Amino acid sequence: MDGKVKEIPVVWLQCSTCTGCLISILNTVSPTIKNVLIDPVVPGKHVSLRFNATVMAGAGDLAMEAAEETARKEKGGYLLLVDGGIPTAANGVYGSIGERGHQPVSMVDRVIEFGKDALGVIAVGTCATFGGIPAAAPNPTGCVGVKDLFESRGVKTPVINVAGCPPHPDWFVGTVASVLLFGLPKPEQLDDFGRPLAFYGKLIHENCQRRAYFDEGKFAKKHGDPGCLYELGCKGPVTYADCPTRLWNTGVNWCVGSGGGCHGCVQPEFPDLLSPLYVKTIEIQPPSKG
Ligand code: SF4
Ligand code: SF4
Repeated sequence: MDGKVKEIPVVWLQCSTCTGCLISILNTVSPTIKNVLIDPVVPGKHVSLRFNATVMAGAGDLAMEAAEETARKEKGGYLLLVDGGIPTAANGVYGSIGERGHQPVSMVDRVIEFGKDALGVIAVGTCATFGGIPAAAPNPTGCVGVKDLFESRGVKTPVINVAGCPPHPDWFVGTVASVLLFGLPKPEQLDDFGRPLAFYGKLIHENCQRRAYFDEGKFAKKHGDPGCLYELGCKGPVTYADCPTRLWNTGVNWCVGSGGGCHGCVQPEFPDLLSPLYVKTIEIQPPSKG
């Protein structure tokens, strides 16, 4: 790496996760994940991924030591990334990352340990932001998101919530690039749930390609029908994300475009308060005609 390029160390902890968030992000196309991890993401700045259990070649104590050394030597200068909810029940016995003195170290302790000395935390995906699917009722493992964990333990490190089940790769790469370019976001650049307004600032329902059907009162009765998907459980009217304009899979399509409806996967209410996903659970009135 060119000596003029500044390295930003990153430790990425994976907690109660299906790994779907990481898979989504590994599929970033522009820039590619190779560009993100090897090249300068923005001029003069380069992400140095020191620990991620899924993609790193190392394993065991040596891998853990790489993460711990980063926290020791780069105090206040590294980013912590977390995906997956953090299981807090029974003193965190339901999830561990590595060992210390031949004893497992809980995910709770790891997120606190690496979080308290980080420059900032990016919570990746709805499980790490709001608890998500592992926190769904009855939530036997007591899963929470990073912000809630920090609040309960008095950790003051700023947290940026890149929600989504999974998050769009652009939301993640864009957030990382913004931090590298401009530093941590100002409060006015985040919404009430800590999500960057650049990606989560607009109501899906306001930008949906099927909105004209809603306004006309034309509703699909079954999947595959033309019409607004509101009666089939679409949560677009309460969901804030730029999916209708950004699209997924490199601009190919998105949930409503494919006929499936929006499940509200970026929302703190997901999944419990938005379920059942294919049943109308929210009441809004189509505008009256004329
Ligand atoms: S309810 Fe869903 S399908 Fe209908 S207009 Fe709103 S976002 Fe689009
Ligand atoms: S359209 Fe809705 S369910 Fe689909 S990715 Fe966007 S926020 Fe999530």
